Amino acid sequence: MTEKAPDIQEMEFGQHQYARSRRNREDLRGTLYFRGGDSNITRKVPGFPTIKRSYRLGEGITRLFGNECFWAEEKLDGYNARIFSHNGQLFGATRGGFICPFTTEWARIWEEDLNLGAFFSDYPEYTLCGEVCGDNPYNWQRDPDLPEGAHFFIFEITAPDQTFLAPEKRYEILNGHDLPGVRVLGKYSRVETDGLYQTLRELNHRGREGTVLKDTPGRRRMKFVTPSTDIEDLKDTLQIGFDLDAGYFFNRYLRAAVFVREFGLDEDEYARRIGRAFLDGIPRAGEYGESRKKYVIHVLTKSTWETLRDMLRGSVQIKTDDIEPAMVKGREMLRIRFRRIYHKSTHRFRRILKGHLHED
Ligand code: ATP
Repeated sequence: MTEKAPDIQEMEFGQHQYARSRRNREDLRGTLYFRGGDSNITRKVPGFPTIKRSYRLGEGITRLFGNECFWAEEKLDGYNARIFSHNGQLFGATRGGFICPFTTEWARIWEEDLNLGAFFSDYPEYTLCGEVCGDNPYNWQRDPDLPEGAHFFIFEITAPDQTFLAPEKRYEILNGHDLPGVRVLGKYSRVETDGLYQTLRELNHRGREGTVLKDTPGRRRMKFVTPSTDIEDLKDTLQIGFDLDAGYFFNRYLRAAVFVREFGLDEDEYARRIGRAFLDGIPRAGEYGESRKKYVIHVLTKSTWETLRDMLRGSVQIKTDDIEPAMVKGREMLRIRFRRIYHKSTHRFRRILKGHLHED
């Protein structure tokens, strides 16, 4: 019998020892633990909880918030990062609770450029949770309007008791410290959602991801995404589809269809767009080489890239395409172009496009 991996995994980041929770148990998956001299846990950086989705905006709002007011924030599409200060240094962790060399290096750049130090000297045991957008190693879908480099947009602040601050308190702190937050789309209640529907139509039109709605004390939240993002995802991910859960695609078709009906969008237009995304997403015979996703990132040193690359290697292969010097945000950095290669999809698509016989 194979032994199950323990819930808490001991980790190292350079000279630093820490542990991470692999599952939602007493603490959330991705919680980080630091121990004192006697090996007892002296510090916990809480994991980031899953945000439930509603497929229908109006009904979802009534179910979650009843008659209460709630805040709507833009949902950004990058990757989830937590930044915290430990023993006088900033670190950046990914959702799974891994201290990430890329996020940590950029956290220290933002420390200088955004004065994160002032925040952490006022709130030393707090955690900044946000989306890293722009050039990054986890999400190839990049907002073309953002300048070169990685950018951090804060969407939660976790207090030492592991709870999120209420949105209004967070807005006040971010304003006071001049820190970048996600865009606030407004405060609404279920009886006055016209403005929110209008905003979501605009976000959809502009190809933006959607919204996260949060109650005023900061305890409950739900996400709601636009069909533009779902359709874009379908087109972009079909070529790596054999490496994803089948549910990944079904869920996006479902979400897009339910949104189109709730918002009364033109069904013929969406039927065309969804079909087009599918046709464009499936690789073409004669043009197909491999199933891969390309990334561009900027790092200060080659060793940051090497540590990151070793961390990213897992079920997928990482191939470095190019390393060149680049000036980013006034710093001499290295621009790295790399690819994630998805072997299962590559193998299957090669066989399909070459006409191999398959048993269904
Ligand atoms: P899950 O929350 O179910 O684990 P996931 O990891 O697949 O989902 P998404 O479906 O993209 O991620 O949605 C949740 C993520 O959205 C959060 O983890 C966070 O990184 C991101 N996000 C972007 N903008 C916001 C925002 N304004 N408030 C909260 N989270 C946001």
